[in-house]
Amino acid sequence: MVGSWPRSHELLRAQRRRQHGDISAKELEDIADSAVIEALKIQEAAGVDIVTDGEQRRDNFYSFVAEKLDGVRLMSLAEMLDIVEDKAGFERILQTLDVPAYSIKNPTCVGRISRREPLALNEYLFLRRHTDLPIKVPLPGPYLLMRAMWVKEATRAVYSSKEDLAEDVVGILRDEIRDLRQAGVDFIQFDEPVLTELVFTQGQTRTFMCAALAARRDPTEELELAVELINRVVDGYDDVRIGVHICRGNWSRQEHTLLKGSYGPLASYLARLKVRQLVLEFATPRAGELAVLLDEGNMNGGKELGLGVINPRTEQVETVSSVVERVEEALRYLPAARIFLNPDCGFGTFSSRPMNSIEIARQKLEVMAQAAAILRRDFGS
Ligand SMILES: [Zn+2]
Repeated sequence: MVGSWPRSHELLRAQRRRQHGDISAKELEDIADSAVIEALKIQEAAGVDIVTDGEQRRDNFYSFVAEKLDGVRLMSLAEMLDIVEDKAGFERILQTLDVPAYSIKNPTCVGRISRREPLALNEYLFLRRHTDLPIKVPLPGPYLLMRAMWVKEATRAVYSSKEDLAEDVVGILRDEIRDLRQAGVDFIQFDEPVLTELVFTQGQTRTFMCAALAARRDPTEELELAVELINRVVDGYDDVRIGVHICRGNWSRQEHTLLKGSYGPLASYLARLKVRQLVLEFATPRAGELAVLLDEGNMNGGKELGLGVINPRTEQVETVSSVVERVEEALRYLPAARIFLNPDCGFGTFSSRPMNSIEIARQKLEVMAQAAAILRRDFGS
């Protein structure tokens, strides 16, 4: 799993009722507990080897930090439009997205940030009590968090620049790794989808992470900054399996609204990340050929590849043989022990906008697990 799983109608309804104050935090938590267990059971039954909690407790993969951090406030895009100086530019971005503005809330930095509570430790501990399988905990990466939280008009009174804000983001994520490691976590994944936007939009900011309207620097400087931040976050934590997930957007089934391009422009940066695994999308043709990444020694140093073999956005369920073939192609470049199979991204990036039904998502996981079983038989474990 990359992370998210479609939320049930019951959970979505409970989230809405909680927002309106109609139910208590405890009532929502009980419903979310059941949803997590349900998502876990489906993964176990499908034969998934490393499970997540389906991000059932989160509204999306990064905005949930607002509930955990002091100094961060969830702002609707309408509220942001009120405060941003470049209103025309902001409206242009909203129009190019296939997402209703009211469905996204941005975690905006409005004060000094610090952990009021851990970001994901409690999610991990709950899941640990219900399974013996290895657990992956997805977290927003430092570059994504900095970009999303930095809204110049709201943030500059507290932090002089987004790099200044990033100093505290790095500290918060390092504390989170420390706590998760101490609790015995198997795999931590940092999500950095915004990296593709740097190279595939030619400087036109066109993202759901709208906060960084001001970030119009040279993309190579931004990529350097992203590499530096990620490497600082993971520094010294070599004994934990840490991955970085990158994709080209997973908020719409309209493929043309999502970014397109091979890993070529990113490869030299990915090669310098001091993480154990790159969790990448490859099922979608928008991600280009495997050879672009794997041919050039970009995976030197023993990095693992989390190979995307399932498209979370399509109605059609992949065949086992197509997945096996895809992995066989990767085996020309990497030994079997360094290849992990995963869907291209989560199945429910934004809670109110799942990319698939639970039923189709379940079938897709089954196909992936069946392919893995065949590949283990043929190529060893
Ligand atoms: Zn993704």
